[in-house]
Amino acid sequence: MQYVFGPVLSRRLGRSLGVDLIPSKTCVYDCVYCQLGCTTRRTTARREWTPVNEVLAEVARALDRDRPDYITLAGSGEPTLHAGLGAVVAGIKALCDVPVAVLTNGALLGCPDVQRDLLAADVVIPSLDAGDAPAFAKVNRPDPAVRFAPMVEGLAGFRSIYSGAYWLEVLLLAGVTDTEEQVRKIAACARRIRPDRVQLNTVTRPSAEGGRLAVPHNKLEALTHIFHPPAEVVADFPDVHTGALTAADPDAVIAMTRRHPCTAADLEQGLGLSQATAQQCLDALLEQGAVEVVLIEGRAYYQPKRE
Ligand code: SF4
Repeated sequence: MQYVFGPVLSRRLGRSLGVDLIPSKTCVYDCVYCQLGCTTRRTTARREWTPVNEVLAEVARALDRDRPDYITLAGSGEPTLHAGLGAVVAGIKALCDVPVAVLTNGALLGCPDVQRDLLAADVVIPSLDAGDAPAFAKVNRPDPAVRFAPMVEGLAGFRSIYSGAYWLEVLLLAGVTDTEEQVRKIAACARRIRPDRVQLNTVTRPSAEGGRLAVPHNKLEALTHIFHPPAEVVADFPDVHTGALTAADPDAVIAMTRRHPCTAADLEQGLGLSQATAQQCLDALLEQGAVEVVLIEGRAYYQPKRE
């Protein structure tokens, strides 16, 4: 499978079959916290980055094996950059009745063609990581064509025409955007956008720029009350654990480490494995030379072995 991965366990979407529409690493932003590495192609240009018919053929094959809770368009860049996004959503809808979710940075949600493409999705989850232009520039490092105020208006504009579930994800960074002043500004934008839910997140894996940017769980909880109605915390902390499988699919494990370096605990959570099973699978892949260990701040992360 080149474009489809999982299903992976997601706290918000249950067992989610991922569809990767954009080649790594193509995005409108170059976020300081991005787990996919630095953006190598920063653009706002929409193109058919991957062939729609091949993507749909892979989705059909994956559905033959398993029925996920959601099919989620996300992946190695920004999915709304795909000019065939509407065709992919419509194609999936023609294949099955599994709800379709789209994870987007939201930068292009004000564009009429993007809005049109997203109307048939069941859940759209845009991001808003900053409450003003300076923080937006610092955290998201957008393409110069994207400015903060029009971007927020785009998020609000899409809400006014979209009747599906609309969940705003706010990812906070320690020492950068976790101040009460910044969160109040984000909350004011959220009031304007009127999502169905606001979900607070933070980084829990190494980012492109390294450094520890995770906001402690209790601080995130305290910040939820700045939003009306209160936000919910969705950060995947290691204590959040769902049903454990007893056998690991090595392809799924490698696919997950290809998206970002993973600890055994990440695999436990992401793939619903028991701790022993995750470690056993990683040890076997290490012995076969399929993955390698990198030590980041004293923790062992696994990634596909580089030549
Ligand atoms: S929007 Fe997402 S994919 Fe793009 S740079 Fe930011 S975190 Fe990475």
